[in-house]
Parts: sequence; C-alpha cells; structure tokens
Amino acid sequence: MAEINILSPHVADLIAAGEVVERPASVVKELMENAFDAGAHMVTVEMKDGGATYLRVSDDGKGMAPEDAGVAFLRHATSKLHDEAGLEAIGTMGFRGEALAAISAVSEVELTTRRRGDDSGTFMTLTAGEIQDMTETGCPEGTVMTVKSIFFNTPARLKFLKSDRAEASACVSAALRCALGRPEISVRLIRDGKEEFFSPGDGKPESAVYSLLGRDLARDLLPVGGEDGDMRVHGFASSPAAGRGNRAAQFFYCNGRFIRSQLLQSAVEQAYKNTLLVGRFPACVIWLELSNAGVDVNVHPAKTEVKFSQEKRVFDLVYHAVLAALTDENRTGLAQPKPAAAARPAAPAAPAARPAPRPDFYRSMSAETFRAQGYTAGPAPKIKPQAQETVLRSYDMPYQTRLDLPHGAPVEPVRPQAPENTGVSGFSTSKIVENPVQNVEKPTIPDHKIVGEALKLYIIVEVDGELLLIDKHAAHERMIFDRLKSQDRAVMAQTLLESVTLRLTEEDREIIEANGELLSELGFEIEPFGENDYILRAVPADMESGDAAAAVEEILEKLRGGKAPDPRSARDEILHTVACKAAIKAGWDTDRAELQRIVDAVLSGSVKYCPHGRPVSVTVTRRDLDKLFKRIV
Ligand code: ADP
Ligand code: MG
Repeated sequence: MAEINILSPHVADLIAAGEVVERPASVVKELMENAFDAGAHMVTVEMKDGGATYLRVSDDGKGMAPEDAGVAFLRHATSKLHDEAGLEAIGTMGFRGEALAAISAVSEVELTTRRRGDDSGTFMTLTAGEIQDMTETGCPEGTVMTVKSIFFNTPARLKFLKSDRAEASACVSAALRCALGRPEISVRLIRDGKEEFFSPGDGKPESAVYSLLGRDLARDLLPVGGEDGDMRVHGFASSPAAGRGNRAAQFFYCNGRFIRSQLLQSAVEQAYKNTLLVGRFPACVIWLELSNAGVDVNVHPAKTEVKFSQEKRVFDLVYHAVLAALTDENRTGLAQPKPAAAARPAAPAAPAARPAPRPDFYRSMSAETFRAQGYTAGPAPKIKPQAQETVLRSYDMPYQTRLDLPHGAPVEPVRPQAPENTGVSGFSTSKIVENPVQNVEKPTIPDHKIVGEALKLYIIVEVDGELLLIDKHAAHERMIFDRLKSQDRAVMAQTLLESVTLRLTEEDREIIEANGELLSELGFEIEPFGENDYILRAVPADMESGDAAAAVEEILEKLRGGKAPDPRSARDEILHTVACKAAIKAGWDTDRAELQRIVDAVLSGSVKYCPHGRPVSVTVTRRDLDKLFKRIV
C-alpha cells in the first residue's frame, strides 16, 4: 500500500496556522493589520483574560461584500495580491492570504462586515475553519471580527500558552506596536472592560508616541530625521541621560511594518557610543521608509523580519540621523531659553506616516558584536536633515522640573536647523560630534555667576534664575576626551623623567603588541625590556606621571575584557582612560580660571555627558528650592 498521503486542506491549515498563529497576540496583530489595510481610521481592540478566550477587532474600514466574506477564510484568499509581479511592490501589511485561514482553523470566529456604500452587511460564524452560518444583517460600515476559544481544537498548543497575564501583556504589546506604526489611525485597546490605551490618530508622530509610550518616556525623546536618496528615516531617540535597562522601548518600523532588526538596533546604539552608560540602552521609535523594492518583507510568515537590499546604506542613514539628533541636543542644551519656551508652535502636519509595529530584546546582539561581524558606520550619507519636528517634551506643560534629571528642565530647546548640505559629502556628522565646539561658529554662553565650589567637586553656577551644579571632574574629563578624539594628529607625548617598568603576562604582552601602533599614536611609548618586562617611557602629555602605570594597567584591563573588539573602540577606550586620568579630580583645589573654562564649556552646550554617559551637570530650579523650603507645595 502506498505510504504517501496528501493531507486534507484542514490538516494543512492546522499546520500552516502554527506559523502565523503562535499565540493570541499573533491574532491581534493579524486582525489589526487587516483593519489597517482596509483603510480604517479608527480601530478598537477588545480582549478578555489572556486573549485566548475572546478577542475582538472592530474597524471603520471599507468592509467586505458578501461574496468576499465567503472566501476570505480560505487559504491564499487575498484581495491584496494578484500575480507574481505584485509581490515586488507590496504596499499593504498583508498579502499572503493566510491569516484568516490560519486563525479560523484553530478557533471560533464571528464576522460582521458591511462594505462601504452597501445597504446591508453580512454576518458569518465559523468553527475550526468551517462556515456554520452566513446571513444578511444590518450593521455599520466596516468590519468586526471576533475570535473566541483560540486553540480549542489543538490542545497541544493550548498547553503551551503561558499564564493569562503573560498572554494578555503580549497582546497589549502587539497592539501597541501596531498602533505606534500608524499615527494617522486612532487605536483603542480595551482589556477586560478597561481602556488600556488610546491613540488619537491625528497623524502626528509625537501624539502617537506620547499616548502610547507615555509621558515619562516621551519627554526624553529627541526628534530624528534624515534622508538619503529614496530612503527616509524619521522618529525619535532618547537623550543619553535617559538610557534604560533593556531594549524594550526600541521600536523599529519599515514602511509601516513593525520589524525586528539587529541592523537598525546596532545603527542606533552605535550613535550613542561614548554618551550612554555601559549596560544602558536608548529608547527609540524609528520609522524607515524605503521604496518597496528596497526591502523584502516576504522572509517569514509573521513578516517581522525583513531583508534590506542595501543594508549598509540603511545602516548609515539611521546611524547618522540619530547621531545628528544627539549632537543637536549637545549644541542646544542649557544655552536655550527657559520655561517660557514651553509653549511651542504647533507641530507641523505629520508626513503621511505609514508604518506599523514591534519591539523585542531577545534577538538582541550588542552593537559591538554586530559591528565585529562586518558593520561599521561609513561616512555620512547625504543626509538631508528634516525640518524640525516638535519635540515631545513640549507636552510637559505645566512646567515642572525634576531634580533627578540632568539639565532637568523640560525646557523646550529650539533646535537649530541642522547645517545644510555643504557639498561633496553632505554635512559631516562625525565632525559635529567629535568636535562640537569647533563646529558651532561661536558658542553663546548665557550670563551667569559662579557662586563657588562645594565639596571640592561641584561648581555652583547661577544662570537664568536657576542653579546649575557641575561635576568638575566629569565635565573636564569630557572636554579632554572630545579634544583628544577630534584631533587627527598623534597625541602629544611627554617623556617620563623616571621610566616605569611593567611586568606583564603573556596575554598582556600580546595585547600590547597587537595595539602597539595605536598606543604610540595616543602618546604611550612602551618598549620591550628583557624577557618579560616592558618599559613605559612616555605617556600622553595631559597625564600626570604618577598616573602612568595605573593608566596602562587600566587600559590593559579594558582591552583584555573584550571591551574593544575593533581598533576604533580600542582607541575610544584608551582615550577614556587618558581623559579620566588627566582630568582634574574631586578633592583637588582648582583655580578660578580653570573652573571658569569648565563652566563656559558646559554653558555653551558642548559638554553634556562624561565619556561614560553620566551627566556632567544638574539643574536645580527656583521652583525646586521653593518646594524644598515649602514656600510652595
Ligand atoms: P491578507 O491580509 O494577507 O490578504 P487575510 O487572510 O488576512 O489575508 O485576509 C484575507 C482577505 O480578507 C483580505 O485580503 C481582505 O480582502 C479581507 N479582509 C480581512 N479583514 C478585513 C477587514 N477588516 N476589512 C476588510 N476586508 C478584510
Ligand atoms: Mg491579513
């Protein structure tokens, strides 16, 4: 007897369902994407328990005619793709015609739909993919899809569902990711009868971010924008001081579709190098728009993974756009007008942002690893900075300051227009970042008074009716680091009057040898001496000779610890150490002129974070003090 069977369509559907419907959250995503594709302006998602018992998505989209409703649940039934040629230019979220077939195969579905302009609608029920009932009905235009008892006929899958709480939170994340991708669509999520979130759908990216991610996160975001030929990126990235403990607040979208992308994650994170504390992650919402041919979404059924045809260009575009946003922040900072500026002009009409959703950190790979595998940011592409978009902190009225925020004020800096393309290679982002001071014509330093220095560490400055506390070591460290990093020539070395002998292990010797050229370029002269020893003859001129041996030990430790997988990060790590050792320290007496130089650098906005990402200054407002003294409540 023949051994090979052709599976029945029902069994084939059950198998296919596994790819599309992993858990209730996948149903939320698929139904929302269908609503979006139907041109809905308002979408409501309702869920009960963990979502497996009850999910309902209602939209005011174009609805379905009875004859379409009848076939919508068949496999490969789609109105979005007609032939092979269409596959090259998918502009909708769906196109495989699989979701409804897969969902209905493992659940009980009720559909109510009315095509726009039709007199009446259609009501249908399905169980395990079989139509049970189909009648004409009166209902509003649009579609309501109710999915109940998910996995009722596949007990093995049901068993794999996590607790209701975990499943529910996966549904909420899925809905949020979808909603965040489409600022022009209003999405409401109701969980167990209570509203979980609501996005206004006014088309403004900042409204979507504020309503979906919340005010605390939104207020720390800086606008990002850039363009390179037919590629465009816009969105937001957090200020370095607002780093987070994980990547859960990183959202990437490509043509409206939420995607997971190590490439984009790495591009964003690299832009924070030297400003974000180690182990902290930026938050971001990045909307990328490419021509449909520039990206292949047909890599996985859930379509959260995509393939860019020009990865390097995409990487560079995002990297430089984020870098420019952070640089802008550095250049504005404190030199800007104070709270009165909170009332900002209305946001410009949002671009027809298409987009859709997603975030996760389990597929994470550090920026370093990613780069080690082949990516480093190339020269800045011809990024055309976007017109300024409203910064989210403008939502923060009434004005309120938090003591724990560096530069605490939700002051709304008026961002200077990024420089226009200056010719050959567009504006050079790297230059702006590596030497901010040089790039700004003449930094404006607001009027101020240095009140004094406290605890031999904190400089107290009165500026614009507020107190600014500056960590003199952190600020000075940053100044030295920026200066060293921006200079092309070799760092000036000073010969030590008494050279230092270093006894090194085999491993350290290899490290020294491998990095010999770099070390000497950065001012360290280290020569072999006898069998095991090395002699340190010179160190960077900024450094005290007494710190020399400790500095080399620290550098070796970093290079040993794999903190510097490539020459560029090795250079940065070494400069960190040099800057830290060369900077004035807490506890030292510092003369007035030196303090003034530091204050000027901070007030000009060129120094905001130490090279490890710690803030160099904190603002205490009059209001903060009045509160402390209970003058106001
Ligand atoms: P796909 O989205 O890949 O086309 P689906 O199985 O998700 O496949 O949906 C099948 C078809 O059903 C869609 O192509 C569309 O024509 C129709 N459809 C599904 N949901 C809706 C909706 N909310 N409003 C209007 N039409 C819908
Ligand atoms: Mg679909």
